Amino acid sequence: MWPGMALSIEIEEVLFSHKSKYQQIDIFQTKTSGKMLALDGIIQLTEADEFAYHEMLVHTPMFAHPNPQNILVIGGGDGGVLREAARHDAVKKIDFCEIDEEVIKAAKKYLPFTACGFDDPRVKIHIADGNEFLTQHQAVYDVIIVDSTDPIGPGITLFEKPFYKNLKKGLRTNGLIATQGESIFLHKECIMNLVRMTRELFPVQEYANILVPTYPGGHIGICLGSLGPEIKEPSRQIPKKILEQLKYYTPEVHKASFVLPGFAEKMLGSG
Ligand code: SAM
Repeated sequence: MWPGMALSIEIEEVLFSHKSKYQQIDIFQTKTSGKMLALDGIIQLTEADEFAYHEMLVHTPMFAHPNPQNILVIGGGDGGVLREAARHDAVKKIDFCEIDEEVIKAAKKYLPFTACGFDDPRVKIHIADGNEFLTQHQAVYDVIIVDSTDPIGPGITLFEKPFYKNLKKGLRTNGLIATQGESIFLHKECIMNLVRMTRELFPVQEYANILVPTYPGGHIGICLGSLGPEIKEPSRQIPKKILEQLKYYTPEVHKASFVLPGFAEKMLGSG
């Protein structure tokens, strides 16, 4: 994911290494970034900076929506997205669709700081492909969050148009989607494609950028689409109880994450 470049992270110990039906799963103890999960050799999270990605991927769409009650999370087998979604009192139900049960099992054993998301009683786990799951669940959700791997291996379908069409069909009136949006410096073609698909399907489309040191280029994007609510600002006051628990997301960061560098603005402006 870093063409012509590499990121070095000093490893102290390999805690878990296993080839599942879908992918190679590795969990490491690093020297300075805590525990780290890699799938097919690609970093998915480190204990030191996962909060930035998980808070922004969840709270940006959840606070843009006026009253998110029914949530679907696709991917995200580590549980970090669930942990953040469960902070919202309005939420009644969180369907969680992950293709690889082995990732969930490994996270529960080695990554308790994200896997605590599975403890919430509103979470219902479905082991299935996200696209197939959506074909059976239409007009159900207020917010759908896609915490996918990159467009490699089982994640490929989650970057294609039929999936985006199904995401739209999965939403209720005023629903929103937020999907993992790669790096504006390194994955231009992929991002332009995501933005183009979202723009064709949703009346409101936006792209946010977040700082995450261990993702390619030190940042990652979120591609968002909405059937109604504006996305660039929270639609309501952020409860003090939630803000006190967060380390990255604030209402100001919500707005600022949509201000992109000039080249990215130009790139996405043309769709
Ligand atoms: N935040 C991470 C990143 O961008 O590097 C992604 C983390 S999360 C571990 C990604 C999860 O998506 C994996 O557990 C993987 O098994 C799951 N996944 C991949 N393809 C999927 C699919 N088609 N349906 C459902 N889950 C999928």
